Amino acid sequence: MPWSEILNHRSALERFQKSVANNRLASTYLFVGKNGVGKHLFALKLAQALLCEGNTEPLTPCGTCPSCAQVSAQTHPDLILVSKPADKAFIPLEFFIGKPEHRRQTGLCHEIGLKPFRGGRKIAIIDDADFLNIEGANSLLKTLEEPPASSLLILIGSSEQKQISTIVSRSQTVRFGRLTDEEVASILGSMKDLETTTPLEDLAAASGGSVSRAVELADDETYLFRQSFMSAMASIDPGKDAFVGEVLAFLDAAGKDSAKKRDRLVMVGDFAIEFLRGLISFALGTNSNEIESMANGLDSAVNLMQTRKRMSGQQIAEAASYSIERTIRLQSDVRTNATPANIIPPWFRDVARALHGEALIVG
Ligand SMILES: [Zn+2]
Repeated sequence: MPWSEILNHRSALERFQKSVANNRLASTYLFVGKNGVGKHLFALKLAQALLCEGNTEPLTPCGTCPSCAQVSAQTHPDLILVSKPADKAFIPLEFFIGKPEHRRQTGLCHEIGLKPFRGGRKIAIIDDADFLNIEGANSLLKTLEEPPASSLLILIGSSEQKQISTIVSRSQTVRFGRLTDEEVASILGSMKDLETTTPLEDLAAASGGSVSRAVELADDETYLFRQSFMSAMASIDPGKDAFVGEVLAFLDAAGKDSAKKRDRLVMVGDFAIEFLRGLISFALGTNSNEIESMANGLDSAVNLMQTRKRMSGQQIAEAASYSIERTIRLQSDVRTNATPANIIPPWFRDVARALHGEALIVG
């Protein structure tokens, strides 16, 4: 796959081209941006370009040499890939420093220090860096401080704020923006096994610029739930009219696996944040193409808040930004295994109070 198929990240590519041309590639990068905008693909493509044995232009993988083929198949001996297993809350320590009985004899920190097998360098990609715990981050520090010659480590996370500070301070941050709706729709169109009854343009418009979110929304139940959730937010009374029950039913429909239920609640939180961000743009009159698909709901929410609650644009924006903070807190509570039925009602209550312009006691 050529670089041209990696959409919308031209400035990141140019930055790496420059660094490679000047022989100034850093040893550790932190890629941040929304899930599903192509950070992982970009990292793999960069790895392929750096490990390619047949490139004629710098940082352009030939796509046909054995090394390129091995990167595509994710079997290249100099490429180390680490991610969080679905059933774990964090990336296990042993992925970095091996099992207790073989400490520092296996794992990423050991492997990245070995002599490269075929490429001129070792490259490690850590997905899900949001789920590095202190132990995991500490185990990486030595590698970050004394990186093996010409090794490259790429950590991929959703934002800088979610990373442990010792990692951020030792990494070069590269930001990845959202994809446009057209780009999302075009990627969905190229997915052969995507089955959905919703038009791809509608999925893209509701995706917030994320392919993985669009794929989740391809599931009819999820798409319909999002619509009714956005209406509940637009009423500025989420949580009223038994809507809590609807949210719990949506989580239950994920099946018995509690990790899946938690993922769904995090997704519900993302929907709320998307709406609230839109509310800020709408209330302050800042243009944003992200809000088009929610315009009706935002219009009625702003109307309710201005007429019934006599709130100014600035007050609406403040209420929304409080509600975003509150939602991020809900999402972190979910991650620490709080019971959804216990944490959803107080979350809705706090958000509704804020949207009603009531004084907030943050606790
Ligand atoms: Zn190649």
